[in-house]
Amino acid sequence: MRKPFVAGNWKMNTDTHTSVNLARRVASDSSELVGHNITVAVFPPFVYLHSVAQAVSASNIAVGAQDVYFEPKGAFTGEISASMLKDIGCIYTLCGHSERRHVIGETDELINKKVAASISGGLLPILCVGELLSERDASKTEEVVTRQLKNGLAGLSTEKVSAVTIAYEPVWAIGTGRTATSQQAQEVHDIVRKLLAEMYDSELAEETRILYGGSVTPGNSAELMSQPDVDGLLVGGASLNADDFLAIIRSAA
Ligand code: PEP
Repeated sequence: MRKPFVAGNWKMNTDTHTSVNLARRVASDSSELVGHNITVAVFPPFVYLHSVAQAVSASNIAVGAQDVYFEPKGAFTGEISASMLKDIGCIYTLCGHSERRHVIGETDELINKKVAASISGGLLPILCVGELLSERDASKTEEVVTRQLKNGLAGLSTEKVSAVTIAYEPVWAIGTGRTATSQQAQEVHDIVRKLLAEMYDSELAEETRILYGGSVTPGNSAELMSQPDVDGLLVGGASLNADDFLAIIRSAA
């Protein structure tokens, strides 16, 4: 039985005050659900991770980082390692978010190293995959998602992959207000689960949580969650508003 998982990616938003207040409000108003019925995690910008982790330390809300570097330490100016994230209370990392793939230019190979480093460092990576609009229009969704999944998990044992959550985020739906229909999401989640069974085994495929992300709102979250292979939601814009994010959590729990 896969427990629903709602994750809030704050991207490059908030400040010290608003990040702590938002996290506290989410933690206090979802306390009756989180942990038992649902997993909830927030992904603040790096500089607010420590204060947010402290603000929610007595709750069941988990904190994750929007990125991680694959080397453990050393001369890598500006980068943050998995052990540093663990040290300040992070549980999750996002690896291969579409903005890192398409704005920053991260490759499948780099993302694979970040997934591996997260697991070795005791963190739980969320590997994001998803096609561009031009790729969907050219009927290449399956090909792109398969490539991103295979390359992103390359070289990892079944045991290691059991630490991974997958997020299907069609790039054309992120921050655009254009959500995939629940059928479109289900189709790709089904492809991902079958692929995991092929690459590893059916037990791992059945246990792995596959989240949908892309313009999720309180108005579409329940319909998306009604699909058999949609196990949770990765929420960007709507996770910055406590009422909206709480409504999404309730609809998923
Ligand atoms: C995201 O940041 O992963 C995301 C899906 O953003 P939004 O919900 O704003 O589309």
